[in-house]
Amino acid sequence: MNLHFKNRIAFFSTIAAAITMLVVFATVYVVVYSTTYKYLDNNILEEKDELFSQIKTEGDSLVLSLNAEWEELEHNRAEVDPIFLQIVDEKGAVIFYSRNLQNDHLQFADSLNINTFFNVEFNGKKIRQGQFPIITETGKIIGQLDIGISQVDSILILTNLRNTFFVAFPLMLLFFYMLTSLVASRSIAPIKQLILYAEKMNYDNINPRLPLPDYHDEIYQLTTTINALLERIEIGRKREKQITANISHELRTPLTSIKGTLEVLIRKTREPKQYEAKARQVIEEVDSIDYIINQLLYLARLDSGNLSIAKKPIRLNDMLQSIRNKWQSRLIDKHMTMYIDIPEESLVQADFGLLEMVLGNLVSNAVKYGNIRGQIHCCWQKDSETLLFKDNGPGIQQEHLPHIFERFYRADVPGSSSVQSTGLGLYILKMLADIQGIQIKVNSKENAGTQFFLHFLNN
Ligand code: ADP
Repeated sequence: MNLHFKNRIAFFSTIAAAITMLVVFATVYVVVYSTTYKYLDNNILEEKDELFSQIKTEGDSLVLSLNAEWEELEHNRAEVDPIFLQIVDEKGAVIFYSRNLQNDHLQFADSLNINTFFNVEFNGKKIRQGQFPIITETGKIIGQLDIGISQVDSILILTNLRNTFFVAFPLMLLFFYMLTSLVASRSIAPIKQLILYAEKMNYDNINPRLPLPDYHDEIYQLTTTINALLERIEIGRKREKQITANISHELRTPLTSIKGTLEVLIRKTREPKQYEAKARQVIEEVDSIDYIINQLLYLARLDSGNLSIAKKPIRLNDMLQSIRNKWQSRLIDKHMTMYIDIPEESLVQADFGLLEMVLGNLVSNAVKYGNIRGQIHCCWQKDSETLLFKDNGPGIQQEHLPHIFERFYRADVPGSSSVQSTGLGLYILKMLADIQGIQIKVNSKENAGTQFFLHFLNN
């Protein structure tokens, strides 16, 4: 059902009201019904008491000594709400009846010995009838008294009650629906206002924030939540711009350097050794561009969930040796030493390419941020299946430590303003480690170095 929100509220409230009204009416009807019939039954009982005081028994026979006033006044009238009387003997033969019965008979149950009330129709009139056994002093049933009383008033009351309900019910529901729809419409007016404001916003324009409603209710809460979300989007947008600028800068720096080197080279003919040295420089710059592009590719693959892993046993020592070889010229440039203290036979379960990226990032950071003549140590802790990777570089300030695995997070490292930095390295490293079942912990002290612990959970 495609109803507006306010109409939906009105619709469901009206259904709830209809059910409530039905329950209330049914209860009222049952109470009125039982009260009116109780009233009729009480009348019949009063009549019965009076009659029994005038019925005598002699041995097993019945003696009627009906009071003349009683006979005259009540039971001769045939027209307006009469009271009908009838007495039958123990065989069911009518031995007395009031004149208003006009030779007709009241119905009675075959069994004489039961006191009961029931509804019957007599000469087209609905009557309430009571029947009572007549019992001698010795306890023998010698007849039955039947008393009938008109139900006209009771039926009138109940019919009026029903009709009133049938007319009032749809009218009340209609009125209720319109009223709730109006109230709902006024209640959701602030939401409509929010929609109007939100429609004017787009990615480049999320200012100003949504106006806060006057009352501190759920709509107020919703508005503050949306405003907080917009705030986060705004921060993210600014960060994204900053990141684009950073990455462009990181790519441009090696490109400018490559261009400069090549321009210098072509100015005049040079010795083969000079060509070789310049070519090496260019290769290093291309490597750093390759490194950034690689990071961006991994980021895209992680974001799309399109990263397949194939775990196999890997010799940790071999992999670290090969990574050290790749970084050899940078290590030499900074007079740094990388020690690998890992038994040849130490195996870890991991994806070759992904683990290479993880360890490569650690080496890259240790070299980038490390001090001249600094040291890097890689040790294998057999008992805990943990690789300890530590450097004696500048360390990470405690305030930055909880954030270093966040995407694009860069902490200021004194003296490292010229290093290539995207803030992606540790984020990618952590993601790749997680999917391979490697738990990463970090310890760092300013000016004392940084330690990374790689715990291979599935080894
Ligand atoms: P980046 O591309 O900036 O190196 P990372 O995610 O690899 O990004 O590192 C996040 C931050 O953590 C870096 O900006 C740096 O400040 C700090 N950091 C990471 N490794 C080291 C380390 N070995 N020594 C000192 N600081 C480090």
